[in-house]
Amino acid sequence: MAARKKQAKMPHCPTCGALVRPKDEDFPFCSDRCRKIDLGKWAMGVYKISSPVLDPEVLEDLGGSGGNRGEGRHEN
Ligand SMILES: [Zn+2]
Repeated sequence: MAARKKQAKMPHCPTCGALVRPKDEDFPFCSDRCRKIDLGKWAMGVYKISSPVLDPEVLEDLGGSGGNRGEGRHEN
């Protein structure tokens, strides 16, 4: 069984769509420039969506590594 596991989801820069790393200073943007551009869009009211830009999965990645959940426990 040589099942290759996919790497963790790589987040994309909301502005230009480039891959960004959670460790990056300007995360979730690829650069300070893109961050400012995105902020500008918000200010201009381009985004009228109430949902946040970041996905919960991305936030989990930021929370730290090795965060195992204790789901599936059943106590009678
Ligand atoms: Zn970018």
